[in-house]
Amino acid sequence: MAQMELLAAFAIGLIFGSFLNVLTYRIPLGISLFNPIGSECPHCQHKIKWYENIPVISYVFLKGKCSNCSERISIIYPVVELTTGVVTVLLYNHQWLDLDLILTIVLFYTLIVLSFIDFKFKAVPDYLLIVVVILTLMVGDWKNALIFMGGFVLLELILTFYIQTIKAKITKNKELENQRALGEGDIPIAGAIGGLLGIHLGISAIFLAAILALIPAVYGLMVKKEIETPFIPFLSLGLFITLITGFNLFTLIV
Ligand SMILES: [Zn+2]
Repeated sequence: MAQMELLAAFAIGLIFGSFLNVLTYRIPLGISLFNPIGSECPHCQHKIKWYENIPVISYVFLKGKCSNCSERISIIYPVVELTTGVVTVLLYNHQWLDLDLILTIVLFYTLIVLSFIDFKFKAVPDYLLIVVVILTLMVGDWKNALIFMGGFVLLELILTFYIQTIKAKITKNKELENQRALGEGDIPIAGAIGGLLGIHLGISAIFLAAILALIPAVYGLMVKKEIETPFIPFLSLGLFITLITGFNLFTLIV
């Protein structure tokens, strides 16, 4: 019985993941979410049939290609669907089924959309960040949320000062003079971390996020010569892992 329930939660998550794909694709391009109703291949405008739109399964059967023009379909689509499925089933397994759970799931869905937009564009729409703040205030502790947002503003101020003045001088890199340490988008996510996890676990989650971000940051710097790593996906991941597992980094050290 319990297994059937979890399977159902996973399937529902996959279906919502399909919808999150639509949001992730359309929001940055400014395409209306309702018009055109169905999805189409970005390459040949082939209308995607319902059976070509089954989460993950269709991608596997189409071998990752459009059935009409054979253009590659981005691997991002099934990744978003699977991520949403896993997030849904783990949250469902973690909390009682009530309004709080629904709102928490919507909060994480918003974080998924923000994360994938951030990965692609390194910038996110403000109104999605407002949604994160509102949902955090509804399900989390608002005082801890505000403390973490304030802390992040301060952190951003100090790190940006360091990068723009000290680091830019030492490395003689003019580019750094306009570089900010954190994106403004990171602040509401930090608020969600504080609001949902509290101070101690929250700080652990942010350190966990920084550690997780280190690998792609080093890779980006070494291989692609990029100095910017999107931080929203890693903050969201740090929040999710800590919420589900209760894992505290500092218990490893102390
Ligand atoms: Zn096509």
